[in-house]
Amino acid sequence: MPKGRRVLILGGTAEAVDLAMKIAASWDVTYSLAGRTRTPSLPENVSTRTGGFGGAEALADWLRENEIGRVIDATHPFAHRIAVNALRACETAGISRLKLMRPAWEPGPGDDWRPAADPGAAASLLPSVGQRAFLSIGRQDLATFADVRDSAFLIRTVDQLESVPLKNSTCVTGRGPYSEAQETDLLREHGIDVLVSKNAGGDSTYAKIEAARKLSIPVIMIGRPDPVAGETLETVDDAVGWLATKES
Ligand code: NAP
Repeated sequence: MPKGRRVLILGGTAEAVDLAMKIAASWDVTYSLAGRTRTPSLPENVSTRTGGFGGAEALADWLRENEIGRVIDATHPFAHRIAVNALRACETAGISRLKLMRPAWEPGPGDDWRPAADPGAAASLLPSVGQRAFLSIGRQDLATFADVRDSAFLIRTVDQLESVPLKNSTCVTGRGPYSEAQETDLLREHGIDVLVSKNAGGDSTYAKIEAARKLSIPVIMIGRPDPVAGETLETVDDAVGWLATKES
């Protein structure tokens, strides 16, 4: 395929996988992962690369060397560093770049949300909200909760954790999406009285929010990092349409 049809998708989300498979027939796609999970979800019939690039400058070099014509940053809304690096690298290399960012969740009737600006604020708030927390925040920020006293934690990760930085914790493994019934059972089984969640948005992890609403459990909702500048669209179909406008 000619140079202009080479697309780098920065992935690690369900939408990134979906997008890669949707455009694979008409674009030469490379799907990039940070390499955090041992058994990641991957798009079929798409070239994959794994691991960091080494910062914005190194990413710009990588884009040039691999003759990438377009970049779609479809990383998670909380993956702020790679989003900033991708924007800078594309500016440096003179390459069109799109941020694919699903809308944030909004509280609805029956929701009891306690907003927190970041994981540290969520940890400070926790003791005043509940004692048995489902920490649904991924593994990178778990240590932020290490000084929270008199709390028990339920942690769910895709891969089994080798070590957990929290004293009174129960770990389960699993890969979503989950149904509301499954999440309700999980919250009941572990006697959860507070859910701590990032405002990830999207459908695939929303069932825990529905389950908390059903059981009248408060949710400490961690807000997103500041949005990164540059063109941003919300859905996979939007991103497919954006690429179509960049046909060369
Ligand atoms: P981050 O803090 O923004 O990125 C840290 C570093 O990891 C980046 O500077 C980059 O290394 C490397 N990196 C991140 N995403 C990459 C990708 N798709 N391909 C190649 N290198 C990548 O990101 P994070 O929060 O650690 O998330 C890591 C990955 O997990 C992301 O791809 C994201 O989509 C996925 N994820 C994150 C969350 C979350 O809550 N943060 C949740 C679900 C999935 P270099 O600087 O060396 O290039």
